[in-house]
Amino acid sequence: MIVANSKRELLEWRRSLDSDARLGFVPTMGALHEGHRSLLRAARKSGVTVAASVFVNPTQFGPNEDLDQYPRTREADEAALREEGVDFVWFADAAEVYPTGFATEVRVPLLAAGLCGRSRPTHFAGVATVVLKLLNLFRPSQLFMGRKDFQQLVLIRRLVLDLDLELDVVGCDIVRDPDGLALSSRNVKLSEAGRVAALALNRGLLAARELFKAGERDAVKLVLEASRLAMADPRASLEYIELVDSVHLKALESVERGGVLAIAARVDGVRLIDNIALGEID
Ligand code: AMP
Repeated sequence: MIVANSKRELLEWRRSLDSDARLGFVPTMGALHEGHRSLLRAARKSGVTVAASVFVNPTQFGPNEDLDQYPRTREADEAALREEGVDFVWFADAAEVYPTGFATEVRVPLLAAGLCGRSRPTHFAGVATVVLKLLNLFRPSQLFMGRKDFQQLVLIRRLVLDLDLELDVVGCDIVRDPDGLALSSRNVKLSEAGRVAALALNRGLLAARELFKAGERDAVKLVLEASRLAMADPRASLEYIELVDSVHLKALESVERGGVLAIAARVDGVRLIDNIALGEID
């Protein structure tokens, strides 16, 4: 595995590849877990050269968010990337990604305003800007992202489509602990009791899916069922539960073909998100 610590090394490596080389790219913020590994494996499986980036992107954190406390585990990350057979990784540095004078912002307002965007109004501009930069630097043919960050995946799909980027965006399933908790780099900050409370999120989503399977199509009823369980533990403070379509993220009144039930909550001061597909989604 080639480990790059500078943009220059990344560009030199990229230029050294054959012009028809197919590259699979997995952007991450590090503190790698099985969720990230599943993306790396999906990339490896598709037979392309696999590249990853590790960058805790400051511009996607709001002023009162956990940028300083975000876990940073470079050595373990490097070992995990090697284990997964990654060919190349760039450990990026904020000063190089955003040099003095940096003045550009990429926004996808229609998809960034709702759901997580309501409490994180600047988050998705930070994500869209850094992802577009990374895509320009790595020039991959495939981009691998997790469905765990569903709004992010939908927004990046849109950006790729709208800006005519020639690459496939591959959405990968949510990896969970055996008890159902969606893996997240932030889970390490949960206390034991907080972890138990966090499980209520997934329980709520699963209950709604059962109701959906039993024939319920009304969004209000499905959302109510999810919130009943998700709010059962007072440690979990719910931010939103919404049923939306999987392309425009518009609230659904009823689920015809399919939709995504998305949830965000705070437990122990840790912000957690999760979602589940109901029916067929794109
Ligand atoms: P992050 O390091 O949190 O920015 O995540 C990097 C990528 O890993 C994103 O595409 C996430 O959606 C994905 N990811 C994070 N957690 C999971 C998970 N539990 N299952 C699947 N993908 C995940």
